[in-house]
Amino acid sequence: MKKKVSLPMQILIALVLGIVVGLICYFAGLEDLTTNYLKPFGDIFVNLLKFIVVPVVLFSMIDGILSMNDLKKVGSVGVKTVVYFMVTTAIACVIGLVFANIFNGAGLFPVLDTAGAEYEAKEFGGFMSTLVSIFPTNMWQSFSNANMLQVIVIALFFGGSILAAGEKANLCRDIVSSFYSVIEKLMSFVIALSPIGVFTYMAWVVATQGAAILGSLALVLLCAYLGYIVHAVAVYSFSAKAFAGMSPLKFFKGAFAAMIFAFTSTSSAATLPVSKECAAELGAEDDIAAFVLPLGSTINMDGTAIYQCVATVFLASCAGIHLTIGQMVIVVVTATLASIGTAGVSGAGMIMLAMVLEALGIPVAYIGLIVAVDRLFDMGRTCLNVTGDIACSICVTKWEGKKAKK
Ligand code: ASP
Repeated sequence: MKKKVSLPMQILIALVLGIVVGLICYFAGLEDLTTNYLKPFGDIFVNLLKFIVVPVVLFSMIDGILSMNDLKKVGSVGVKTVVYFMVTTAIACVIGLVFANIFNGAGLFPVLDTAGAEYEAKEFGGFMSTLVSIFPTNMWQSFSNANMLQVIVIALFFGGSILAAGEKANLCRDIVSSFYSVIEKLMSFVIALSPIGVFTYMAWVVATQGAAILGSLALVLLCAYLGYIVHAVAVYSFSAKAFAGMSPLKFFKGAFAAMIFAFTSTSSAATLPVSKECAAELGAEDDIAAFVLPLGSTINMDGTAIYQCVATVFLASCAGIHLTIGQMVIVVVTATLASIGTAGVSGAGMIMLAMVLEALGIPVAYIGLIVAVDRLFDMGRTCLNVTGDIACSICVTKWEGKKAKK
């Protein structure tokens, strides 16, 4: 009988093939071929994922809340999840700053010419107006703009209200659960295509951006990647072992498919369907994963926080600014907030970097110095972001299980 190759294996093969084809195209000077004929297939795949992301987040969260069937449990899972997210993100900032300062102190960061740097930053209206904007005035607008923070607020209110309405809301419960089953099927169809997405994107990135790795920003990239790796090994291995009683090896093996997928797609939101499969494989309870993962893909961005800290120190050094301890504390606070505000889509972390730079008085235009290689930073940070969400789902499952036993 023919044995079916598992999805993680297919993704791994696609990744390796993508690198090989990318390198061949790079050395043969065929970069355009990958841009014109391979990347579009990756784009089609990511478009498909984007088109299901709003219903996935909406129905997954409402379904998660309904399956918990108890507002108290929702509150308890919510608090544990948010605390886990905040603590790990703050640790990520510290790790990012430590590495950035080591590199900077050792004179490893290049000093780039800032004269021609150009970047048009998005306007930030301050903390309070950002907070207000999370609450939607028109839910159809939230859906059509894929404003995920608003979609989460809508899901929380609807889920909570259906629970509170009791028996009268039975029809609504059935509708949600029926819709969610359809969406799960849809997700599995789209996920089956993920090796194509991984292959085409990887070939394109290697062929078109390979040179950047050898260029002047190589050491800044290395610094960020060291931060990503240390955070994954230290924080997620520790969480898996200490809180979920799982060997780190088993954890990373289980999360592998989502990690590779995030690495190539550079979107936590698009990776959500794959993360759900991985979390289920690792033993996360369905209702908890259905709640934690969509929330995590929207607000939990440890990789983004590390990147923002490294980029801030680097751009400050280009500006000739030496950050004091007090300013580092500002970096930790603003990068934590900025990472929460970062949408789970490609490149969003760089847009939010402007918020951290603004808080420190570093010219936002300097982002122009790193914009060209953002995708390379983004691959690693998205991979870490998604791993953090999966780690949280198994930890919260364990914590809730212990509470139930008591
Ligand atoms: N691409 C990242 C994500 O989806 C966000 C970022 O750009 O940092 O998680």
